[in-house]
Amino acid sequence: MTNLKLATLNGSERTVVPVDSLRVGEGFTMIAGPCTVESEEQTIETAIAVKKAGAQALRGGAFKPRSSPYAFQGLGLKGLQILKKAKEETGLPIVTEVIDSRDVFWVSEYADVLQIGARNMQNFSLLKEVGRSERPVLLKRGMNSTIEEWLNCAEYILSEGNPHVILCERGIRTFEKYTRNTLDLSSVPAIKELSHLPIIVDPSHASGRVSLIPSLSLAALAAGADGLIVEVDINRDKALCDRDQTLTPSEFAGLMEKVRLLHQFMASQQ
Ligand code: PEP
Ligand code: MN
Repeated sequence: MTNLKLATLNGSERTVVPVDSLRVGEGFTMIAGPCTVESEEQTIETAIAVKKAGAQALRGGAFKPRSSPYAFQGLGLKGLQILKKAKEETGLPIVTEVIDSRDVFWVSEYADVLQIGARNMQNFSLLKEVGRSERPVLLKRGMNSTIEEWLNCAEYILSEGNPHVILCERGIRTFEKYTRNTLDLSSVPAIKELSHLPIIVDPSHASGRVSLIPSLSLAALAAGADGLIVEVDINRDKALCDRDQTLTPSEFAGLMEKVRLLHQFMASQQ
C-alpha cells in the first residue's frame, strides 16, 4: 500500500468512532432505514420499527445520486428535517448522504454521520470538506475501486484532521449480472489487516436482492465486519428507489435475531 500514513494499522489501536452514545468499532453496529426519505410518516414509522427490532442508527437519503437525471433526486432540506424529527422521536442517530462539498456544512446540522456514496468515493473536494467537518464519515467503497484506492480516500479525510472514518463495503462491479454488485467479502479481513478503521457491510446495495441479504449479513459478521447498513422501509412495496433490495420491518426483525445469535456464538468462542 503506497502513500498511506494515517489509515494504516502500523501497530496502532483500532479506531472506535463515537456517534452520540453509539461506538462504531465496538460490538456489532446495526444501521437500518429507507433508501430514500419519501415522507415524514414513512421515515418515522420505519425508524420506530427498526429501533424496536434493535437497530442503533437510522439511515435515509435526502440527496440521492441517481443514474438518471430524470429519476427522483430526494427531498433535500425537507428530507433532512424529516430525519431530524425521526431522531427526536426515536433517539436514533442519523446517517445520511452528502453529495456536494458546498452542502457539507449545513447538512452536518442534521446528520450525525455524513455518508459518502460509492459514486463519490473519489470526489476529492468532497472528501477534503468532510475531512474538515466535526462529523464522523461513512465512506463507501466505489464500485470500481481497489482496496488501496479506497484507503487512499480515507487518507484524504484523515489528513484534513477528521479521525472518525467508518469504511463501508457495498459490493463492486464484476461480470456477474444476477446480483446488482458482487460483495467483496475479502475486503473485510483485508481492511482489518491493513487499517485500524472500522468497516461495515451494506448487503442491500451489494446484492440488490432481498433474498440474499440474510446470508450476506451473517457472512459479513463471520468475516469480522463491525456492523451492517441495511435498507428497510415500512412501505417497501411502494418505495420509489431500491425496492428489490429493501427489507420490510418484519424481515429486518428476523435478520436481527439471526445476527444476535451468531454474534453471541462468536463472542462465546473468544
Ligand atoms: C445508498 O446507500 O443509498 C447508496 C446510494 O449507496 P451506494 O453509494 O453504495 O450506491
Ligand atoms: Mn439505496
